[in-house]
Amino acid sequence: MTRTLSHFIGGRAVAGSSGRFADVFDPATGDVTARLPLADAADAAVAVAAAEAAFPAWAATPPVVRARVLFRFRELVERHADSLVRIIVSEHGKVREDARAALMRGIEVVEFACGIPHLLKGEFSEAVAGETDSWSLRQPLGVAAGITPFNFPAMVPMWMFPLAIAAGNTFVLKPSEKVPSCALRLAELLHEAGLPDGVFNVLNGDGAAVDALLADPRVQAVSFVGSTPVARHVYATGSAHGKRVQALAGAKNHMVVMPDADMAQAADALMGAAYGSAGERCMAVAVAVAVGSAGDAIRERLAPRVRALKVGPGLDPESEMGPLISAAHRDRVAGYVDLGIAEGAELVVDGRNLSLQGYENGFFLGGCLFDHVRPDMRIYQEEIFGPVLGIVRADALDDALSLVNRHPYGNGAAIFTRDGDAARAFVSGVAAGMVGVNVAIPVPMAFMSFGGWKQSRFGDLAVHGKEGVQFYTRLKTVTARWPSGTTAGARFAMPTSA
Ligand code: NAD
Repeated sequence: MTRTLSHFIGGRAVAGSSGRFADVFDPATGDVTARLPLADAADAAVAVAAAEAAFPAWAATPPVVRARVLFRFRELVERHADSLVRIIVSEHGKVREDARAALMRGIEVVEFACGIPHLLKGEFSEAVAGETDSWSLRQPLGVAAGITPFNFPAMVPMWMFPLAIAAGNTFVLKPSEKVPSCALRLAELLHEAGLPDGVFNVLNGDGAAVDALLADPRVQAVSFVGSTPVARHVYATGSAHGKRVQALAGAKNHMVVMPDADMAQAADALMGAAYGSAGERCMAVAVAVAVGSAGDAIRERLAPRVRALKVGPGLDPESEMGPLISAAHRDRVAGYVDLGIAEGAELVVDGRNLSLQGYENGFFLGGCLFDHVRPDMRIYQEEIFGPVLGIVRADALDDALSLVNRHPYGNGAAIFTRDGDAARAFVSGVAAGMVGVNVAIPVPMAFMSFGGWKQSRFGDLAVHGKEGVQFYTRLKTVTARWPSGTTAGARFAMPTSA
């Protein structure tokens, strides 16, 4: 019998009433491992009601006390890291050490959120006018919702809820229906850490659950991470319902390799950045822009290594790359490889016919490498989200930079060079939110903010760091005086400091 999962609402597992279910798979074997209830609007309303009921008391809890719950949660996540990693690998498929590293990135946001008493400090101005002082403070919003993608079952939810609840909000997380178990386990650990019931809830489901959250007037803010078409929908719909929305979206990250770069380092970086997590990362490098002689040099180094990639189940310590998330996605990515050939790119390494003994039903695809990819090709323009790297040739840095800047996505971008002038020009001129210099995947740390530009993000504020605190709080500015003696009478002119 396959186990049936639930929602986590008001501090306990809740079955839900929709009667709709989805299968959850182990991508390495292709086996169905669980049945997941998919929420309808009534289930969503129950989750939001639990979060709304918990808000007043949680918002009134001193930040330093809220932080103590997160300190305990941090210890619990660390103590249970092995089992969380196993859950991530069993539903996502990525290799164990990669899952552990991403969990660590999530823990770092919890550590940042533990500083909430400091992060919420406002500003004070004495004597803004005669005997009048002014100060600002930031207060929580109410119920916030998080909607997350399949590719980081722990890290992306942890970009959101630690800061949201530390700031005094209550939270409804709608995780990806492909990887629900990690979020459910995190909810149990928050409960064990002493978080009051209803402050953190997990609502499982698909687009129907998301649309119910977007329409619910009690939800004040929505954090979304996922593909660009859904991000656009969430941003437009949430904003139309008067909510604050940050929607992080798809990507097609470029790494420029200059002819003076250390080619061994650049090749190492490209292998990890293109094929790590089977390319299912929003910060994966999908395009290597090789300037001048770097083209042949990088291709020569990459081709044998892509052919030798160790593809296997994520729990096998020998594996460098695991399966893709689903059979449908594996077929979609393979379809892009067919398309690239038809468009005239040169397929240097073909990973389409990979079959693994004992894992014939797993969703595996080998690493693929294209050379002579051109900007007019769909394999260049569209996000593939798989282990497919394309080399584009460019004559000079200016051409490479203008290529990156013309692309509709602008999440991350990197340059590999030994030339400080080239690096400086790239950093200054590139139209992307996160930029690396000899760093292929420049994911900002928890105390900085993470977010792309152009079609890679909708909404003003990025996640975690200072902008994350701003997103989950609203500003209040107070002007105060304590007059004594006789009244000066009504004044009909706008007050000034004079
Ligand atoms: P997705 O857009 O299919 O799903 C994301 C979330 O939206 C899921 O919770 C899903 O249930 C929900 N959803 C799906 N269809 C919906 C609809 N029609 N209406 C409302 N909600 C809907 O994304 P995915 O396949 O889970 O994740 C991969 C994508 O996420 C890639 O495009 C990747 O680049 C992107 N991503 C971006 C970042 C970033 O920081 N920019 C980080 C991670 C992933």
